[in-house]
Amino acid sequence: MATQALPETPAAPQTAQTTPDVSLAGVRKTYGDVVAVDRVDLDIAPGEFFTLLGPSGSGKTTTLRLIAGFERPDEGRIELHGRDVTRVAPYERDVNTVFQDYALFPHMTVADNVGYGLRVKGVGRRERADRVQEALQLVRLPDVGKRKPIQLSGGQRQRIALARSLVNRPRVLLLDEPLGALDLKLRQEMQVELKRIQQEVGLTFVYVTHDQEEALTMSERLAVFNEGRIEQIGPPAEVYERPATEFVAGFIGVSNVLERNGKRFTVRPEKIRMLDVGEDASSGHTVESGRIRDVVYVGVFTRYTVELDGGGELTVVKQNLEASSQEALESRGQRVRLEWRPEHTFEIDPGGQA
Ligand code: ADP
Ligand code: MG
Repeated sequence: MATQALPETPAAPQTAQTTPDVSLAGVRKTYGDVVAVDRVDLDIAPGEFFTLLGPSGSGKTTTLRLIAGFERPDEGRIELHGRDVTRVAPYERDVNTVFQDYALFPHMTVADNVGYGLRVKGVGRRERADRVQEALQLVRLPDVGKRKPIQLSGGQRQRIALARSLVNRPRVLLLDEPLGALDLKLRQEMQVELKRIQQEVGLTFVYVTHDQEEALTMSERLAVFNEGRIEQIGPPAEVYERPATEFVAGFIGVSNVLERNGKRFTVRPEKIRMLDVGEDASSGHTVESGRIRDVVYVGVFTRYTVELDGGGELTVVKQNLEASSQEALESRGQRVRLEWRPEHTFEIDPGGQA
């Protein structure tokens, strides 16, 4: 950026910094009686890795299709970088979509697949070849241009699908469960790759997944969807540690909900410490006593379900520092006390409105 000698006036707010790349306000979409998306409000910043997380049927794909322009909302407004696109056709929006099923043309070479969008736009052969090669390099497959899609592995095909979108240099890339068809190991590799590419190109990613771990590891912020509505928006750590609703608490991680004095609270399993027999509780900690109902030995740690004397039950995880599997399993039925810091308990909204 060029530095210029400017008069000393207070910095004016710059729209370039504050205008979201994607903005949804009061967006609603129905199919007959089904409310697929229900009054969704969403602002996604330029360059952000933003995830739509939720179970199957919660409205993630519909939201993505609304942003892409494949669907029109019944109500509400959609803006792309400050421009109202609610009634604008998909090809006139500065977005590109990567689907789970790749949708590569089988009879075309990889290079022709990647360059297809450019050809349609009338980009000349020379520039096309350069940009195709650049995109293939970005997904780390510079040498497969002459192959046909069938000569690639599933992971490679997904990279090509990504290259085909990147070549158009959209401002926003929409990805609908792009790794859903890959096995776990490849999926984890591709998670790292996707993140690298997103940072390298500085694109805005709107990423759809039903996999909470994927959402937590990849996103800068995420929105948790339930039945067409957003229950919570925030950075992964905040959504995980401070779930706003019972649905979020249960969908992300283990649901640990306690009811006390007419209010509902949540506390994450790893924040709870199980006291040894005769051990004093730490000062200032919340303490509950109960009985171990169930024990699951998971190798690295053991998961205990404890029925509390005050009502309800909590899941607790404990690292297997000294305990053998035998000892852990034999603790079933024993009386225990649990403690945690009061700041690790959060009141949640049972109704489901964020
Ligand atoms: P997700 O991607 O989270 O699984 P979807 O956005 O695909 O959810 O679907 C949300 C709801 O809208 C579901 O109940 C689904 O059955 C319904 N739906 C989506 N697309 C259509 C359609 N074209 N016609 C009728 N119902 C649809
Ligand atoms: Mg979907």
